Amino acid sequence: MAVDLRRNRERMVREQIEARGIKAPEVLRAMRTVPRHLFVDEALQAQAYGDHALPIGHGQTISQPYIVAVMTALLQVKPGMTVLEIGTGSGYQAAILSEIGAEVYTVERVRPLYLAATKRFRDLRYYNIRTKLDDGTLGWPEKAPFDRILVTAGGPEVPEPLLDQLADPGIMVIPVGQSKRSQTLVRVIKENGQIKKENRGAVMFVDLVGKHGW
Ligand code: SAH
Repeated sequence: MAVDLRRNRERMVREQIEARGIKAPEVLRAMRTVPRHLFVDEALQAQAYGDHALPIGHGQTISQPYIVAVMTALLQVKPGMTVLEIGTGSGYQAAILSEIGAEVYTVERVRPLYLAATKRFRDLRYYNIRTKLDDGTLGWPEKAPFDRILVTAGGPEVPEPLLDQLADPGIMVIPVGQSKRSQTLVRVIKENGQIKKENRGAVMFVDLVGKHGW
């Protein structure tokens, strides 16, 4: 079983990530290392390395591996950076950021998911991830500024508090859409007091629910 899962993980990285043009070595290494099957229900472990999102309960999902890789690569995370993630979910994306050497702060609004992810980080010894139960569209003001901010749920706009809490220079990656269930992946770059936004393709995320979300 364990050997099969390791083989599935290696195949996932080769066929879904490398073959689609993701080259950043730190992203590939993190995706080879983090045991994605331990971030889903036991009954779904055999499907954990498939080319799709999977349900994690409470109407939420763990993102497709390729999407996690794309977002992580766009974020250009370096070891030692402080990263804020909104939408902890299973904790998989946070573990990838942690594996790259970031100090990770992650916020989840659904209590059982927050509790499960917090326990998972402890069990798997991701000691550089801090968790909070809250509306992440408000950010985490006490820990700001953040070198990088990653939002893994889709809302109607870039939440103002997150823009304020982004360091200068800083990069934020967030799915934004005027309708639910279909968004554009937006990369926000803050530099010398200026904000630049790049559209990076169509994506489909669960709803960002909150004061500055739906
Ligand atoms: N990064 C996750 C993906 C989870 S799906 C992973 O790797 O598994 C998105 C998550 O965002 C859901 O768990 C949802 O409950 C959460 N979410 C939605 N709106 C939120 C908000 N305003 N603050 C914090 N979390 C939110």
